[in-house]
Amino acid sequence: MPYRWPADTEFTRIELAVEEQWCRTCGGALTICDHRYHRVFTLNGPLHLVCKLVHCPTRACPAHPQTLSPEAETAITMPWWVLGWDVVWWLGQRRFARHWSVGPIRAALVDTYQIRLSADAIETYMHRYQQMLAARRQAPGQLAAAYADVEAVRLAIDGLQPEQGHETLYVVRELERKRVWFAEPLLSSATAEVQQLLVQARMWAEQLGKRVRLWMSEKQDAFVRGIAAAFPGVPHRYGAHHFRRDVAKPVLEAESRAKVKRRRTVRGVRALEREVVSARRSTDLPGPALAPMEERRDTLKHVEEPQDPAARVEEATQDVVLDYCAAVRGLLNDDQGGPLHPPGLRMAEALGEGQASLQRNLEAKKGGLRTTDSCGWPETSTGG
Ligand SMILES: [Zn+2]
Repeated sequence: MPYRWPADTEFTRIELAVEEQWCRTCGGALTICDHRYHRVFTLNGPLHLVCKLVHCPTRACPAHPQTLSPEAETAITMPWWVLGWDVVWWLGQRRFARHWSVGPIRAALVDTYQIRLSADAIETYMHRYQQMLAARRQAPGQLAAAYADVEAVRLAIDGLQPEQGHETLYVVRELERKRVWFAEPLLSSATAEVQQLLVQARMWAEQLGKRVRLWMSEKQDAFVRGIAAAFPGVPHRYGAHHFRRDVAKPVLEAESRAKVKRRRTVRGVRALEREVVSARRSTDLPGPALAPMEERRDTLKHVEEPQDPAARVEEATQDVVLDYCAAVRGLLNDDQGGPLHPPGLRMAEALGEGQASLQRNLEAKKGGLRTTDSCGWPETSTGG
């Protein structure tokens, strides 16, 4: 990518020479035949690299047409790059470890290092950074170390198509160490194409010296046949995701209908609450005309304790009724959950518990009021 350097850029000039002095083919002395100039940004300022190219001057030597470049150049940057390695690492660290976007990266390069780059250029170098990262993760030594204490691997293959008609990106992952082994965009999802990826996965496992314990994928023909052919005898489990997604829709629809039906059977909560509140109002105090239920209850709670024990029992009883009403209303409005934990089932279970709790209290009341006083009620009600 040609970069237009400002006329007043001050470069540090570095001359680089080929280390070898003698022709490997004929043993004659190598001579300088040309210069290549390469200007790059580094975090310590722009460099002007002068690469001295050499060749074997003996026309009869088979190596004569070859030109050698100084190896030292690639320790600073790659041929044709405008950024030194240090700037590329800086970019990658800011982008992937610090999650900076291109804008702030671009601004920081100018502010801190006086490096002016287009957004396109930054994206290109970030892409290169990712490629190098991927290459490093695939490096045999790194892999062997990561899998040193793994007895057998579990592999998965997925095809991701960003848009209809686009290439599908096939990703082969290993699930023991949760690593992406490799990814390949394929235009066709034909069995033969996918087969190459499976063969590649087999080579990886063989190089690691690991047994393949299991394959996981969607139940696509190419995967089913391909895995059976490349990994005979290895169990192949199909992903449950599609199945769940397909089954979730009718489940949720049926669920919603069931919920509506069940709500119809649980009625009269509001009427009960009204009854209790108006009973209290007639005995105790004038009270606000039509405030929300909770507000009215608060008002009622703050009234002086009635002295009469019978009145106290009555009030405790009313509190329990109001608590049950609030609980049931909460259950009817609960819509937490999803296809795997349908809200209607939760509601049914919770209503059952509420019913059982009411029943326990009714039974407690039968025996309770004969022998004890008002305290029996609130205690038993906490159990529900
Ligand atoms: Zn030679």
